[in-house]
Amino acid sequence: MELARKFRDSKPSGMIRVFQAIEKMNGVLNLSIGEPDFVTEPDIVDAGAKAAKEGFTHYPPLQGYIETREAACAYWERHHGLKSSPDNVYISVGGLHIPWLAFGALLNPGDEVMLIEPYFTPYEAQIKGNGGVPVPIRTREENNFAPTIEELRASATSRTRGIILNYPGNPSGRVATRKQLEEIAQFVEERDMFVLSDEIYESMIFSGEHVCFATLPGMKERTLLAAGLSKSHCMTGWRIGYLFAPQNVINTMCVLSSYQTYGVNTLSQKAAEYALNTQDEKVKERAEIFGERMRAVEARLNAMKGVKCHRAEGSFYLFPDISQTSLTSEEFTWQLLNEAKVAVLPGSAFGQTGEGYVRIACTQSMETLIESMNRMEEFCRRF
Ligand code: PMP
Repeated sequence: MELARKFRDSKPSGMIRVFQAIEKMNGVLNLSIGEPDFVTEPDIVDAGAKAAKEGFTHYPPLQGYIETREAACAYWERHHGLKSSPDNVYISVGGLHIPWLAFGALLNPGDEVMLIEPYFTPYEAQIKGNGGVPVPIRTREENNFAPTIEELRASATSRTRGIILNYPGNPSGRVATRKQLEEIAQFVEERDMFVLSDEIYESMIFSGEHVCFATLPGMKERTLLAAGLSKSHCMTGWRIGYLFAPQNVINTMCVLSSYQTYGVNTLSQKAAEYALNTQDEKVKERAEIFGERMRAVEARLNAMKGVKCHRAEGSFYLFPDISQTSLTSEEFTWQLLNEAKVAVLPGSAFGQTGEGYVRIACTQSMETLIESMNRMEEFCRRF
C-alpha cells in the first residue's frame, strides 16, 4: 500500500532500533527504557477500579475532570509554589500527547522552535508534524547542558516562536540552575516567545532545587508546563499527563482533542486524582531509591576504563561520556548489547550534542544494575 510521502522514508529512531533488537534477544539486562520498575501502588489501582464501579464509564469532559485538574493544581502549589486555576489545566493522554496538541495549537507553517540538545527524541517529530521547524541548540556538559543567553541569541531568527525546556533532563539527568533559567526567561521575554517546559521528572531531584519555570516572574503567561504521573507515580501504562497553560491554548487543545482522542480515559483520571492527592511520601521514598541507584551506578561507571560520568542532579538517567573509548555512541551501544547483553541508548539518538555519550536508565533493581555494571566493566577493559 502506498504510504504518505511524509512517512515513506521514515526510519525507526536510534532508540526504537535498540528496543526492537532487545525483543529478539535473550538474557539482556535492559537499562534502555525510561520506565520505573515499580508497579502502581495498590491503593491507586483501587481508586481506578472504584471509579469504574461507581459509573465513571461515560465520555469524560474534554479538558479533564475538574477534580483531577484541582488535584494537579494542589500538587504543584504544594511542591513547587505554582499558583494556578483548574481552568488553566488540561488532562492529557500521557505526557507525550501534550507537545503534539500544543504545537498543533501554536505553530504556523515554518515557525521555528528551539530544541535544546540533548533532547527527548519525540519532540523533533512533534514540531515537524505540526508544520514547525526544529532548531537544535548545541549545549555543553560543563554548563549542565543548558544554553547560555548568547548561545540562544545566536540561533534566533525572525521565525523563532518558542523553545522547549526539559529539566531535570532526559537523557542528561541534568538540572538547569535558577540563574540559567532566569537568563532563558530574559531571552524569551526579549523575543516574545512561548516556552514548553517539560517538567515530568520534577519529583526526582538529588541535588540543587527544581525551579518550576512558570513561577519565574512574568513566565506563567508564556509557559506551557507539561507534567505527568508516568514517572513520579509509576503510572506509565495508565497514559495520564497534564498541562498548565494560558486559557486560549487550553481551549484550542480541547478542540484538537475532540478530533483525536475525545478526552482521556476516565478511570485513569480518577486514579490520577487520588494519586496526586495522597502519594507524596511514596513519591519521595521512590525518588530516594532512584538517587541511591544513580550514585551507585555513577561510582561504578567512573571506575571503568574510557568512561566518565558526571553526577546527575535529577531524573533517573545517567549520561556518561564514553568518547575516550574512541567508539561512537552507536558503536558503543551495539557492541555492548551484542557482546555483554547490556542495553543502553546511544547519546546520538538525542541530537548531535549526545554523540560520545550513552544513556543509562537506573530503572532496574540494584541487583540488576550491579550485574549490568559488572558486564560493562568487563566490556570496557579493552579500551
Ligand atoms: N517527557 C519526557 C522528557 C519523557 O522522558 C517522557 C517519557 N519517557 C515523556 C515526556 C512522556 O511520558 P508519558 O509516559 O507520560 O507519555
